[in-house]
Amino acid sequence: MTERAPDAVTQAKASPGKSSFSLPGVERIPPLDDLSGDRSRSTPEAAQVTTPPSAVLEEHGDGHEPTHGDSSATAAATSAPTPFQRPLPRTIAIANQKGGVGKTTTAVNLGACLAELGYRTLVVDLDPQGNASTGLGINIRDLQASMYDVVLNDLPVEDCVEATAVRNLFCAPAALDLAGAEIELVPAFSREMRLRRALEAVRDDYDFVLVDCPPSLGLLTVNGLAAASEVLVPIQCEYYALEGLGQLLRNVQLVQRNLNPRLELSAMVLVMYDARTKLADQVVHEVRDHFGEKVCNSIVPRTVRLSEAPSFGQPIITFDPTSRGSIAYRSLAMEVSGGAAQRAG
Ligand code: ADP
Ligand code: MG
Repeated sequence: MTERAPDAVTQAKASPGKSSFSLPGVERIPPLDDLSGDRSRSTPEAAQVTTPPSAVLEEHGDGHEPTHGDSSATAAATSAPTPFQRPLPRTIAIANQKGGVGKTTTAVNLGACLAELGYRTLVVDLDPQGNASTGLGINIRDLQASMYDVVLNDLPVEDCVEATAVRNLFCAPAALDLAGAEIELVPAFSREMRLRRALEAVRDDYDFVLVDCPPSLGLLTVNGLAAASEVLVPIQCEYYALEGLGQLLRNVQLVQRNLNPRLELSAMVLVMYDARTKLADQVVHEVRDHFGEKVCNSIVPRTVRLSEAPSFGQPIITFDPTSRGSIAYRSLAMEVSGGAAQRAG
């Protein structure tokens, strides 16, 4: 076992808030100004408003009232604009080339909560593992069509879209053969723009399209970034949270310069926050120091219920509607949508 990291971790825990605390990888992160995309379509007045930190995300245990039920559309219409609001429709790539950092959990649960707010939402599963699809109750071994056919065989997206148990929430599922797409795409014509072309056809059918990217920076992720107007990056509240992030952001920049000038890094979401560790707080501070307004106020706690929900094929808001995970993802959906009026449906 190497002695390299534990020292730093112990030190970080022993001296909370010390300014010398620094996460590995932070020095390789490019300037954020380069990642703002072509924002001519943004709403400057919305960008001024900041949301107060969400009280619901404090460690209160699980005994609480749900914030809203079926009157969710009203909730969307009455919540304040936030720095994360953008004109609808929005296509958001959820990316981070590390595996196990909460991309899929965020795609599924942010998607479900946006749908609950009344937004027609499509989760596009671009990961051959198909976790977003199974997490939404779809049996990926039993599919007539999947994102593989969309990306490789020009199948219209709507031909593979499946409804889910949540009203307004749809999924374009992945199947295991999507793993081959990474290689099969290499000689394909317009190989980086396949998803973008496919999604253009359903642009008016959804308010939000969330693309769950695989844990790599290969052609599938490039397709996700080329199709999106925004990138949302989940960041684990862990010591190595920022390692590799520089590389992701440089890739975002490359896609922005060469394929998709409107792409912007719009939001970073702190996930798997464990209030019992001082390190988690230090990561939160460091990430906020570095990324400022890009970091959502809503923080997703590490909870067993969030990790159990996918095995029941359900998002957290149907699996355990009053759990801390539900509250956190609802809060995130309010923040990301900024209460924009629904457009589709
Ligand atoms: P990725 O898509 O980035 O690979 P996942 O969303 O699949 O990551 O998450 C990795 C694992 O961590 C999964 O088993 C998931 O259930 C679990 N997980 C994700 N978010 C949380 C959380 N907030 N609390 C507890 N477990 C979580
Ligand atoms: Mg995943």
